[in-house]
Amino acid sequence: MWLFDLFGAKKAGHTPLFLYNTLTKHKDEFTLPAHTKAVRMYNCGPTVYDTSHIGNLRSYVFADVIHRTLEFSGYKVRQVINITDFGHLSSDADAGPDKMTKALKREGMALSMENMRTLAEKYTEQFIKDLATLNIDTSRIQFPRASDHIKGEIALISTLEEKGYTYKGKDGLYYDTAQFPEYGKLGDINIEGLKAGARVAEAVDKRAPTDFLLWKSDKHLGWDSPWGKGFPGWHIECSAMINATLGKQIDIHTGGIDLMPTHHNNEIAQSEAATGKRPFSRFWMHHEFLNIADEKISKSLGNMVNLADLVEKGFHPLAYRYFLLGAHYRTPMNFSTVALEAAQTSFLKLRRFVDTEQSDGSPSREWLKKIQERLADDLDTPGALAAAWEMLKDGEVAKADAKATILEADRVLGLNLAKPDELAASLYNKMFGVVVDRNVLPDRVKTLLEAREEARKEKNWQHADAMRGELQKLGYLIEDTSAGPRLFRKD
Ligand code: AMP
Ligand code: ZN
Repeated sequence: MWLFDLFGAKKAGHTPLFLYNTLTKHKDEFTLPAHTKAVRMYNCGPTVYDTSHIGNLRSYVFADVIHRTLEFSGYKVRQVINITDFGHLSSDADAGPDKMTKALKREGMALSMENMRTLAEKYTEQFIKDLATLNIDTSRIQFPRASDHIKGEIALISTLEEKGYTYKGKDGLYYDTAQFPEYGKLGDINIEGLKAGARVAEAVDKRAPTDFLLWKSDKHLGWDSPWGKGFPGWHIECSAMINATLGKQIDIHTGGIDLMPTHHNNEIAQSEAATGKRPFSRFWMHHEFLNIADEKISKSLGNMVNLADLVEKGFHPLAYRYFLLGAHYRTPMNFSTVALEAAQTSFLKLRRFVDTEQSDGSPSREWLKKIQERLADDLDTPGALAAAWEMLKDGEVAKADAKATILEADRVLGLNLAKPDELAASLYNKMFGVVVDRNVLPDRVKTLLEAREEARKEKNWQHADAMRGELQKLGYLIEDTSAGPRLFRKD
């Protein structure tokens, strides 16, 4: 593993890696507790009542970059993305109809458990396919479904009840946040402010605005439980699935910034109260939102865009991944077609460079170190991309070596550059021209090309440029590669 050498890291140790931890509000060095063999990482997953939009997908590309960076730093990773297939209420406020119920109405399906499951499976499949399209290796991720963990969810709620953390209301069983004095420590949420503006508390029968449903009663649908028929609250689902898949304590927990104040503080309150183990997660990492024209992406604003829409418009799905890598995960991003076009051009340039250069080079230690240093500094992907482009522009590194460097860096960037990609090739041929076979050139073109090569040999740059200009007028573009000049033709 090249990184070990580059960083001169301890023999049995790992490459130093710093990650911003919402819990401590610093970039902390990531380490693993002794005897832990693999990093336990949980990413809050989607509510599968509709197609994931491109904002949701930012969450999982971010998680994938963490996974790849950890691997590169010498760690093994156990990654879990849950699927919220049942029980997600309409908002953090515990009020309003369930999202799934609304989705069944939208799709003209009768309200039944069976139909809920059918709908959830359809969107789960789509979600996992979208991840694979973004070059996320889904075979090494566990995707637990909330509905497959009902027993564990009920057991966890029972433990909380036995320990005195719950009370009954007319909507179901609530978590009593007054019993958990550290409630709200993640991100230091303003509990006093919440109390002051507690209109929500009046709407539902809870004692404090921060209290939340552990079990939501439902007369008609759901599972049987000690608190009657109903559904688990969506916060408890995450705590229970983490318990079942990764254990009582984990190393990294991620999600969008919107989940931090309520959902993640609730997860901490439930898990730490039930297990007595602190911290529930050692690192909490939150990514910022993707907006469209500065507006949040949402159904009600009618600005939902999904991955299939982008592909339909002629974009390569990995150009979207490139676009995401172009901003730091803690920076809000604005999506626009123009911005995605720019990302696509850069992605295709990189892709074409890799496809047309020779493969006999070896990575430049100096540039790899620069790229790796950026990634190890809280996953600075824009910095890593900028370093890769700087290396290409700098021209000091032989092109075959530059290619080898980029392929090595791509193990973290995940643009799938080592694998042939017909869609990318057809897109860059359209954009930059098709390589022309030098043996079948028209005489005039052959003469101009030979004259340019002759002039270059004699270092007569002016004449060489003039010949390039003539070729361009005939529709031929020249690129100098390590294997000699290459001609492209644009139709
Ligand atoms: P949901 O399916 O709504 O539970 O969301 C799944 C994930 O997507 C969560 O981590 C959210 O924080 C995240 N998310 C939702 N909307 C956006 C957005 N516009 N930009 C980035 N992440 C988002
Ligand atoms: Zn969660």
